[in-house]
Amino acid sequence: MATYIVLLGPPGAGKGTQAKLIAEKLGLAHISSGDLFRENLKAQTELGILAQSYMTKGELVPDDVTIAMIRDRLSRPDCAQGALLDGFPRTPAQADALATMLASLGGSVKCVPLIAVPAAVLIERLSGRWSCRAAGHVYHEKFNPPKQAGICDLDGSELYQREDDKLETVQNRIAVYERQTAPLIEYYRQRGLLVEVDGARPIEEVGADLLAVVTR
Ligand code: ADP
Ligand code: AMP
Repeated sequence: MATYIVLLGPPGAGKGTQAKLIAEKLGLAHISSGDLFRENLKAQTELGILAQSYMTKGELVPDDVTIAMIRDRLSRPDCAQGALLDGFPRTPAQADALATMLASLGGSVKCVPLIAVPAAVLIERLSGRWSCRAAGHVYHEKFNPPKQAGICDLDGSELYQREDDKLETVQNRIAVYERQTAPLIEYYRQRGLLVEVDGARPIEEVGADLLAVVTR
């Protein structure tokens, strides 16, 4: 049966960093809703242009378009073994929709690791984040620097700083997380799926704990 895992945590917790490592180890598709919106924006699709107006303010893109985008992504062949969801769901309505989508695929969410990190640490992480243009690989100028400044180790593409990683937007993204996404902690706890992992440790230590959680 397909394995579906939801990675939960505030912006900057390390979801993307860890999801890339774990998805590869487990042979699961990595689905990042933020990456999908950025790809759409790069291709100047209608969805990308709509999403941009919310992303630049650090607000959530409306549920209906976000849910439709993920439904389409989950139906692709590379998700046959399952998927690691990073950044989706972000509201209880999205979580309900996910449960319905997975039920129609004959599956359900297996577990929900919560990467817990204090707000002060998040700001430092996001202000030093550099992402690669080609595939969204993530680096940090201090905590996870690339071998050569400005160049992705994995695919040689240019690294850039996200528009929504500037301080003012980051502060709003954290507030939006607290207001709209944090209720999912209780949502998944009540369903017996939540497992908290301390994300305020080096990348390798967090990764080892997450791998143990998702494979048990
Ligand atoms: P998210 O996807 O949750 O927003 P990212 O994976 O993009 O978070 O990580 C945010 C930033 O923090 C990146 O610059 C990344 O390199 C860095 N980072 C991720 N995990 C850790 C960690 N455990 N310790 C220090 N820095 C980290
Ligand atoms: P991320 O790459 O996860 O940090 O997401 C970047 C931005 O994309 C967010 O600040 C939102 O504007 C938008 N976004 C990503 N995922 C979602 C989602 N599940 N629901 C609504 N908006 C989202």
